[in-house]
Amino acid sequence: MNFIPLSIPNFEGNEKKYVNDALEQGWVSTAGAYVTRLERDLAAFLHADNVAACQSGTSAIHLSLTEAGVCPGDTVIVPTLTFIAAVNPVRYRFAKPVFIDCDDSLCMDPVKLRSFCENECEFAQGVLTYQGSRVRAVIAVHVFGNMADMESIMDTAEKYHIAVIEDATEALGTYYTAGRYAGKYAGTIGDFGVYSFNGNKIITTGGGGALTANRPETVDHMRYLSTQAKDDPQFFIHNEIGYNYRMTNMQAALGVAQVEELPAFIRRKQSNYELYRTLFEGFEEAELMPFREGTVSNKWFYSLLVHTERISASLREVVERLRKSGIQTRTVWGLISEQKPYLDDDRYQLEKAPYYASRILNIPCSTQITREEIQYVADEVKRVLKDLAK
Ligand SMILES: *Cc1c(COP(=O)(O)O)cnc(C)c1O
Repeated sequence: MNFIPLSIPNFEGNEKKYVNDALEQGWVSTAGAYVTRLERDLAAFLHADNVAACQSGTSAIHLSLTEAGVCPGDTVIVPTLTFIAAVNPVRYRFAKPVFIDCDDSLCMDPVKLRSFCENECEFAQGVLTYQGSRVRAVIAVHVFGNMADMESIMDTAEKYHIAVIEDATEALGTYYTAGRYAGKYAGTIGDFGVYSFNGNKIITTGGGGALTANRPETVDHMRYLSTQAKDDPQFFIHNEIGYNYRMTNMQAALGVAQVEELPAFIRRKQSNYELYRTLFEGFEEAELMPFREGTVSNKWFYSLLVHTERISASLREVVERLRKSGIQTRTVWGLISEQKPYLDDDRYQLEKAPYYASRILNIPCSTQITREEIQYVADEVKRVLKDLAK
């Protein structure tokens, strides 16, 4: 059996053709037809009015916080169990994060979000404040392709007048099938939605991202900020502080080809997940975590919940043993609230996040993984965990 990586990109379509085309035309920088074509294709896929392509998911979050009017000293509510790039842009704005727990979907716990606003903050004249600091926004991350509980989160945000930034970097293609948001895609429900095309995301442009917002004019303004806020390109007039955050045409050429394959990638992720699910059924030492009911998930990453109390070794050891079997796995992120730059920031009732952080193992999920490889991964994971069982 060859080495089985956790998650690698897949270039089976028109990638070379489009990238060569961009090169031959000489359009390699941020101007070029592929950038606008990618924006149009993504907007069509997401049923969104307007999408702007940018340099990364991180830059798209930074632009969202800027557009939401987050000022130095403001508070932004964030999750602790996710990738640190979801939170770092809060600090780029010199604002303060407050960390909220996750629920069993691994996304932000909407009940704790509400009780934080209700019990720890003050709401007067339409403004929510936490210890004297204005609460301007909440960043809801759709972890591993799952959907956060958007109905609840939107209710709270509307009640307390805070902007919702959906970090849908891991959930491109996830949508609701039931409830108030039936038919709505992750990233198109809140005030802002953010996507990433980094190397291990469901589609990749090497590095890149995109954003959308609930008003098309807002996206136009964010696109303007992403291109150095140029009001007159000929005479260099700039009326705001902009950024160099636009995607390049080379990246977009790759992206257009990847979006063509996106529906097929999602179907493969889904059927591979189903296969893993049957293989782990009834296994005592670990279980495959489900995705939220009432949604169709892109099933980007698979989370195996290891019942660590039943085994006599750390997850680290499990990862190491599987590596020796030629299988790459990883533990979930360390909590952001426990990383050095965030140790002094406030946190609210963290219980499930530390629980899941010490038990989740991500298993190989590339779109090109074969059925035989999935069978092998499941067999080896079971063998290793049985071997370590108490
Ligand atoms: C990948 C990722 C990002 C950052 O996206 P980049 O394109 O790498 O900047 C942000 N948030 C989460 C949850 C991610 O997984």
